Amino acid sequence: MDRIIRCECGFVARGDSDELVVDEIRAHMKQDHRELYDKVPVDEVKGWIELT
Ligand SMILES: [Zn+2]
Repeated sequence: MDRIIRCECGFVARGDSDELVVDEIRAHMKQDHRELYDKVPVDEVKGWIELT
């Protein structure tokens, strides 16, 4: 099953494992939302995963 994480800016990260989708949204956060990237722990990011 695919996983997605929706960013507040409209960006959608997709992946077929928790690890992949978390990596993708973290890469996006690092580039576009540096403050969030520094502030939000990976465990919290995992809580944003939605199954499609
Ligand atoms: Zn974003």
